[in-house]
Amino acid sequence: MQVKAFKLNLSYLRLAQALAETLSNHAKGVLAMKTLNISGRHVPWSLWVAICIITLLPIHASQAAEPSAFIESSSVPGGIARVALDAQKFPVSAAAPYVTWNGRAIATMRQADTYVALVGIPLSTAAGKHTLSLSTTNEAAETVDFTVDSKRYEEQRLVIKNKRKVNPAPIDMERINRENKRLKEVKSYRADRLLTDQFDWPLKGIVSSPFGLKRFYNDQPRRPHGGIDIAAPEGTPIMAPADGVVVDTGEYFFNGNSVFIEHGLGLQTFYAHMSRIDVKAGDRVTRGQIIGAVGQTGRVTGPHLHWSVGLNATWVNPLLVLPTDMPPPADP
Ligand SMILES: [Zn+2]
Repeated sequence: MQVKAFKLNLSYLRLAQALAETLSNHAKGVLAMKTLNISGRHVPWSLWVAICIITLLPIHASQAAEPSAFIESSSVPGGIARVALDAQKFPVSAAAPYVTWNGRAIATMRQADTYVALVGIPLSTAAGKHTLSLSTTNEAAETVDFTVDSKRYEEQRLVIKNKRKVNPAPIDMERINRENKRLKEVKSYRADRLLTDQFDWPLKGIVSSPFGLKRFYNDQPRRPHGGIDIAAPEGTPIMAPADGVVVDTGEYFFNGNSVFIEHGLGLQTFYAHMSRIDVKAGDRVTRGQIIGAVGQTGRVTGPHLHWSVGLNATWVNPLLVLPTDMPPPADP
């Protein structure tokens, strides 16, 4: 029964996509401009219309049996804290409170007789007490504390031969800054409910670099590793690990050919260094669908998929949404 309710919700998504595509096709005939220009970027009609329709649909997923159950709780830097809210103050009979942390909107879902906040914790977060801010339509603002435990990540030292990719030239910096602005915007897209209740590894291969590594390029410290690297031969197909909507594709200075997928509530996945991309912004993808192939575009030392999982625009450990610690091995 509960599973059925969630499936029903997914059928809403399909309906929304079909409607969006119909509207988009209609718009092509009526409007000279096929795309909206948002902050200098062209975003397909179908993506905006689909996300708007999804947002307006009744909340079935959050009333089903905790479809977020596949998201493991690990309250450490780079982890996800599942913070249950007080059932007396935030009963499920009332609308979910609006939750923020450090100015970022935090996903909330129904869990038993209350709501749970799903908090993506940045790798740079200090261990200790942290505070969520909550607001509802008819009550004063509240706060809820949660604790972040410490976690040590390993170090990795890499030698990059193309020095321009280590210390980019000023002309590259302009491009990188432009791309960072775009990434920030892409990471802010969210559908108002989870579009999946299950994740798989996106390809067959071996983990060549785990999440959270402290990295040094030519002995210069860089940001810790925000994803998992999965080594596989160039051309190995990459599958959507879960149902979702493609929010962006592009060719980036560091990341090469890249894809962003939104899986609902701001739970996103990111794919880098691809040899080819088989999807476009606005496409609905289903779990197991091929979205492109492994390559070595951007800053790489060999063919691999850099794969990141994001929540509230924060990279988190992908293992927290996966059923196994290792990807399936490559075919012999
Ligand atoms: Zn990587």
